[in-house]
Amino acid sequence: MATADLSQCSDECREALKRLGAFLDGELGEVTRSKLREHLSDCAPCTERADFEEHLRELVRRGCSDQAPEHLKARIRLQLDALSATPSG
Ligand SMILES: [Zn+2]
Repeated sequence: MATADLSQCSDECREALKRLGAFLDGELGEVTRSKLREHLSDCAPCTERADFEEHLRELVRRGCSDQAPEHLKARIRLQLDALSATPSG
């Protein structure tokens, strides 16, 4: 297990990423939240993803993007589109 192939996501990772949005929005129950936290502490790719999403949310909350460069704004818009397009159920 010397190689870390980021393209290979376990089921656990998929679950974690699926819940990431709700996690960051504070919409998860305590049990689910602590499970997710546990996974993040074990899983670098998911942690990175969570960091990115959290950062994104913070930018949006601050009203963005006066200081953000154009390519970052574009990336944020794409991410937001992807998030809001996530099918539920
Ligand atoms: Zn993971």
